[in-house]
Amino acid sequence: MPPVNRNNPRRAGSSDSRYAVMEFMREFPDDAACLDYLWRTLYSSGGRHYLCPKCDEMRTFHRVQSRPLYSCAKCGYGIHPTAGTIFEKSSTSLHLWFYGIYLMSSTRCGISAKQLERELGVTYKTAWRMFNKIRSLLTQDETPFDGIVEVDEAYIGGQAKWRSPARSKAKGVRRGSGTIKTPVVGLAQRGDNENSGKVFVTLARGNRAPDFVGHVMQKVLPATTVYTDETPKAEPLEKWGYHHGRVNHSQKVYVSGDVHTNTIEGFWALTKGGIGGVYHSVSTKHLQSYLDEYAFRYNNRDRVGRGMFTAFMERVIGEAEPRLPAPVSETPSVERS
Ligand SMILES: [Zn+2]
Repeated sequence: MPPVNRNNPRRAGSSDSRYAVMEFMREFPDDAACLDYLWRTLYSSGGRHYLCPKCDEMRTFHRVQSRPLYSCAKCGYGIHPTAGTIFEKSSTSLHLWFYGIYLMSSTRCGISAKQLERELGVTYKTAWRMFNKIRSLLTQDETPFDGIVEVDEAYIGGQAKWRSPARSKAKGVRRGSGTIKTPVVGLAQRGDNENSGKVFVTLARGNRAPDFVGHVMQKVLPATTVYTDETPKAEPLEKWGYHHGRVNHSQKVYVSGDVHTNTIEGFWALTKGGIGGVYHSVSTKHLQSYLDEYAFRYNNRDRVGRGMFTAFMERVIGEAEPRLPAPVSETPSVERS
């Protein structure tokens, strides 16, 4: 057996970990490394050169030691790599931000602001603010679904703890639609050989058929095959040009050939388990951002190793890009008319 280098811990081959904390710490040992990452990714495409807006030439930029700033070697023009990102104007260190993102990206079901507070050693208020900023990056995109799409409703969120099951029964409150949980609609585009399945989840607009169909029409291309359970709200789908198949859950039929809603139901199970286990309960006001987070995790579930952390960082970078001057190529331009 080869000797173990205790100063250079390595992840065990059998480990399920995606991006071990030691790997993270090696890559981002301090604030400067985090700032350098932003600089490289947002401005210089990996190197030191950038088109200085003041000189209007490709210049070498150096990191200013005492401030979170890179400056042009020729004219001293300064660029804040955090400009336009969620880190801008934050008094929390960049290293803690990155570590917070690492923590949120390395757990399967997410972590709460309370856990973040404990892990980072910041106040609860700071942790809560960071947590919401990071989650605000995880919004779902508008790319339409096609192929085979499963659509299903669920009730998620607050738990009616004070209402005993007996009382609920006495009052005629059914599980699901009668409780204070919030109705949500989920759509799952099934995977194929090239792409894995994706979900899109949103708060339900209302409880009528046009609301239900409206969700489908907004996200799913016409003439797509749509599978639902026996809900009468899905009735008009055929009229709107979708190929509609349904499974009759009330008759204990869960799969009829290819027709089932198991993909989206699997997602509900993850989300309900996560929200119940990590966050305990979620108010309607915040529910959409939790749904976004779970959809983001689900839609990026194939990204292994550093992948989930990278997926989070891509959102950080993507959010910043529109506010920045277009990064130019690394090669300094010599031709100038
Ligand atoms: Zn310059």
